[in-house]
Amino acid sequence: FKSGTAGREPRSTPLADYPDLRKHNNCMASSLTPAIYGRLRDKETPNGWTLDQCIQTGVDNPGHPFIKTVGMVAGDEESYEMFAELFDPVIKDRHNGYDPKIMKHPTDLDSSKITSGMFDDKYVLSSRVRTGRSIRGLSLPPACTRSERREVERVVVQALSGLKGDLSGKYYSLTDMTEREQQQLIDDHFLFDKPVSPLLTCAGMARDWPDARGIWHNNEKTFLIWINEEDHTRVISMEKGGNMKRVFERFCRGLKDVERLIQERGWEFMWNERLGYILTCPSNLGTGLRAGVHVRLPLLSKDPRFSKILDNLRLQKRGTGGVDTAAVGDTFDISNLDRLGKSEVELVQCVIDGVNFLIECEKRLEKGQDIKVPAPIQSRK
Ligand code: ADP
Ligand code: MG
Repeated sequence: FKSGTAGREPRSTPLADYPDLRKHNNCMASSLTPAIYGRLRDKETPNGWTLDQCIQTGVDNPGHPFIKTVGMVAGDEESYEMFAELFDPVIKDRHNGYDPKIMKHPTDLDSSKITSGMFDDKYVLSSRVRTGRSIRGLSLPPACTRSERREVERVVVQALSGLKGDLSGKYYSLTDMTEREQQQLIDDHFLFDKPVSPLLTCAGMARDWPDARGIWHNNEKTFLIWINEEDHTRVISMEKGGNMKRVFERFCRGLKDVERLIQERGWEFMWNERLGYILTCPSNLGTGLRAGVHVRLPLLSKDPRFSKILDNLRLQKRGTGGVDTAAVGDTFDISNLDRLGKSEVELVQCVIDGVNFLIECEKRLEKGQDIKVPAPIQSRK
């Protein structure tokens, strides 16, 4: 049998191991075929990560109540190359036709290019931009060992101690926090939820919880870094109100500082030109960027055209408690749907223009005027 399985018992045929995906509606289930499975099942990355481990979360979770999920994760940077025959079509499906075989991903963190980034505070309660970054050479959260996870925490926390001025802050490890402190941070939207989502647990990302997890933030809690949740790091800029331009400025500045500090210590982020920044979930490849607002849209959200308008503007809607929560009342988390193939500047501008359009619609409905569904933003498909 193949070298990748050396030392193990010979296995059954790939077809006998093929998962039952008949009730599934995630991207992985739409792209996986017995032929692809047959070619990839017995391969392993240098860290010993397999295709079956990549897709387990999508096999165990046929769908999600609120969003269409990807249905697979990477265990390491090499997963995306070794299992490209499945990752590539999934990426193309999830990222609006972006073809990783022939396309190159742009990066642009020049926030001065943003126009009209101030939302009406009457509608927008808070603004936020986040991304993820992975440390090259260490396995990703679905696959990492305890020591690798602790190494991520050590490297990142050490680097962050070099942040200065308004960005300087402190690390709070989950293990040292009381239950109350943790819950308060979650309720205030600063900290990731407990690992309640089966998407996370089935991907192996809640192993050893809360070991080596934590949050770093500046004093104002406007620049925050999550450590070892779904990604090695999540870098977040947020504040109350509608000043998305200022949030993005701080995001770009802080992110560049973090990268420099990591590099000064001899580490670098996972990145390549066809996939951009490498993260655990293929939905976050490219920029890893999710720019969003909590916005009140009592009338528009009850209009039957709401979903179509969001689709056409390439926006995604979530509940305000995060991706696994339903919307309560009239307030939604509205953010960019795409992450790959467009730059950070383009995506943030797309959210700004889109959310301004939604607010315009809301105001028209308040006055009893009619609204129009905008033409779809150009798609690559
Ligand atoms: P992410 O994509 O960053 O992982 P989640 O949907 O998992 O986002 O939510 C993580 C946390 O961030 C939740 O507590 C959520 O309420 C908070 N959050 C997301 N967007 C905003 C926003 N615009 N304003 C305030 N909090 C937000
Ligand atoms: Mg999340």
